[in-house]
Amino acid sequence: MNKIKHSQPLMRVEGLSKRYNEADALAVNHINFELAAGEILALLGPSGCGKTTTLRMLAGFEQPNAGRIYLHEQDVTDLPPQKRNIGIVFQDYALFPHMTLLRNVTFAMRHVPKEALTDKAMEWLKLVGLTDYAKRYPHELSGGQQQRVALARTLAAEPKLVLLDEPFSNLDAALRETTRKEMRELFKQAGTSVILVTHDQAEAMTFADKVGVMQQGQLVQLDTPQQVYQNPANAFVAKFLGHTNLLLGQAQGYLAQTPLGSINLNNPHEGEVHLSLRPENLALTPCDDPQAAKVVDRQFRGHDYLYLLEQDGLQYCAITPSYNYFELNSRVALKSTHCASILPD
Ligand code: ATP
Repeated sequence: MNKIKHSQPLMRVEGLSKRYNEADALAVNHINFELAAGEILALLGPSGCGKTTTLRMLAGFEQPNAGRIYLHEQDVTDLPPQKRNIGIVFQDYALFPHMTLLRNVTFAMRHVPKEALTDKAMEWLKLVGLTDYAKRYPHELSGGQQQRVALARTLAAEPKLVLLDEPFSNLDAALRETTRKEMRELFKQAGTSVILVTHDQAEAMTFADKVGVMQQGQLVQLDTPQQVYQNPANAFVAKFLGHTNLLLGQAQGYLAQTPLGSINLNNPHEGEVHLSLRPENLALTPCDDPQAAKVVDRQFRGHDYLYLLEQDGLQYCAITPSYNYFELNSRVALKSTHCASILPD
């Protein structure tokens, strides 16, 4: 396994841009980022924001109109895919149906001497827990198992970097969560750097060390999942990473006056502020006041309720533990229990 230990970034991307047709807007608009060795980055954003185009440029399947891509500080922008030492796991796994799992894996190991091929391939299958299945064909496996073979095959080529394009989208919810966890552990164990493309915020936050949020071809924020969730760079990021309440406030130091009363701020500020207050930071208490917030909708989600509330013509959302039950149309007092984040202008 290729444990890479370098202080320099594994990958550096500078001003990467792509326009498919003259008349179209930029599909990818001047993206810059660095990826450390062994780091897992998720590129997250809605459909059409340029995630796959970015991945395809990194892999070498698409040529950028501008910008450079460096691997270990070597400029690889003009190199064909096979010269980049980057592995890709596609959405549909792309296993060879007429080959056994073992053969699917050995096929990727061009660098290994013939006599060592089987043993080495079995080591990769062991890593993904599939040694007992080595003689089976892909159609004899579950979706999650096929996903793991695709991963073993990619890792067997010992790439510097693995690119994953929505790799869990064909799996059901339960399998998705376990496969995601297992794959993350495998990558960490192998010290492999990974870039994952997804439109699923929960997937990005649980799988990656860093999350890059894309909006209309631009990388609008790149940070740890906690930072991106707690201190979103703009209203788009705040809304894309789960539910939020966007509020206008008048700030004085660490306090802002808002339609929900006084709210603590994550940073001091003076004057008008746009704020994001997460729904789990809004507490509801029963209240008889007819002017108080009205419960207009309620979704039971197993471990919690998502409430929609209305007060003074404005709507708010709140998430409470599932033992906090409020009738529709009943009145509740709203109070923030944690600070709101200031959204930069
Ligand atoms: P999704 O999550 O739906 O896969 P995405 O974020 O990966 O979306 P891209 O597939 O990178 O987005 O597409 C970015 C933009 O480029 C979109 O407007 C898309 O229509 C356009 N685009 C993608 N591929 C091509 C192509 N081969 N020719 C022309 N336009 C393209």
